[in-house]
Amino acid sequence: MTGNLDRRTFLKSAGAAALIARASGTSARAAEPSASPNLVIVFPDQMRGHALGVAGEDPVVTPNLDAFAKESLYLPQAVSNYPVCSPFRAMLMTGQYPHASGVMGNCLSRTEPYGCELPKNARCWSDILSDKGYSLGYIGKWHLDAPRPPYIDCKNNRGKDKWNEWCSPDRRHGFDFWYSYGTYDWHMNPMYWATDTPRMKPVFVNQWGPEHEADLAIKYIRNTGGKYRKKGKPFALVVSMNPPHTPYTQVPDKYRKAYGGKTDRELINRANVNLKGKSRGSRIALACTRNYFAMVTGVDEQFGRIVKALSDAGLDKNTIVLFTSDHGNCIGSHDLPTKNNHYEESMRVPFMIRWPGEIRPRKDDLLMSTPDICPTLLDLMGFSDAIPKNLQGTSRAELFRTGKGDRPKSQLYFWIPVANPAGGRRGLRNHRYTLEITRRKDKPEQVVLHDNVNDSFQLKNVAEKLPDVVAKMTAEMNARLKQLKDPWLGA
Ligand code: CA
Repeated sequence: MTGNLDRRTFLKSAGAAALIARASGTSARAAEPSASPNLVIVFPDQMRGHALGVAGEDPVVTPNLDAFAKESLYLPQAVSNYPVCSPFRAMLMTGQYPHASGVMGNCLSRTEPYGCELPKNARCWSDILSDKGYSLGYIGKWHLDAPRPPYIDCKNNRGKDKWNEWCSPDRRHGFDFWYSYGTYDWHMNPMYWATDTPRMKPVFVNQWGPEHEADLAIKYIRNTGGKYRKKGKPFALVVSMNPPHTPYTQVPDKYRKAYGGKTDRELINRANVNLKGKSRGSRIALACTRNYFAMVTGVDEQFGRIVKALSDAGLDKNTIVLFTSDHGNCIGSHDLPTKNNHYEESMRVPFMIRWPGEIRPRKDDLLMSTPDICPTLLDLMGFSDAIPKNLQGTSRAELFRTGKGDRPKSQLYFWIPVANPAGGRRGLRNHRYTLEITRRKDKPEQVVLHDNVNDSFQLKNVAEKLPDVVAKMTAEMNARLKQLKDPWLGA
């Protein structure tokens, strides 16, 4: 099927394919490979790019992801351009950078007055696939709605900031199967709203979140009795797992066993974690690394179950599977607890995409950016004509398919205070350096430059030593920000 078929034509041709399949005595499943590809996106929250066995960095146990990497295009240089929850999620859905997506910060009660949430009229890849006749399922964390009073009575909404909100059906951007929540960080007892669950009656579950979500994803894939999605139609499914997000202790014991032979110190191999003395980083790293890795191993196991379900259902060949994360995690690197900074631990995310016969398995140092994901997926699936003209991300489909074509030279970095969209931090990352500029009230801008090749742990700021590099990268960054109409330049 080509990308310029409208929904009616598609429905007709899909119907015709089913008729042909019936007439020739083949099953509907046998007819599926010639139809549009399915799409499965699995993205855990806060999993850094280092936390894959195949990355050769963190000493994690991830056999399923390592096997999947061998069948995939693996991009170890992929980043989250704004490494925090809601901004990433909006970039993923819309292919827009944060000022254009409307989500410049996390969605919570404090940012609600600034309209910080995914706009109802945003044109997401899921809206486009819905128009093309796809069934669409969303399982897990959404975090793209601003919480409003009366607030949902649950954990994550009892402090000063309220985080969790129901997503009303008219804000689900084409997803017709829904089993999700806004923000709810109790991984052993998660909560969800199903497709028809009323706002004030969420369902609480007594099972580890990723396992529960994988159980449901497998049911969605099997689709026994056509209960979950339209039979014979292509589908897209998102599984947005919360772990390895905090609290790290909320992980089944069985996943800790993978690290039983190592001390806490042996698990921490990053030179930017200061294990001497009683630094904040040391405390965080020693207290959290084991459980964080255990969560990663748990996510790996559940991801493996989802991938196996696709093979068992005969859907692996005609399904694009993407595994990534919304941002990484410092866990003590640079004395920092988590994310929302320009360091590699925070910005770099896993990125592996598999499509047998269409994308050759390999490792590529492509500088993939988050807003590029939406147009790339639509292009790969044959819907390049439907990519909105004002989209800021760039399709990398040709690079994915052939390895040839124009390559991005850099990746932007953002941190934007919602009350001051011209302020905060901006940066640029390329194969050699990371530049970060912080704008402070009544003070000169603070400039940081790291040489990621000669100082891979980013321990030194070489901005003063290398003014020419700073000038060149700042000019490139500003040119790109100008294209995006970032108010940073007008301040
Ligand atoms: Ca997150």
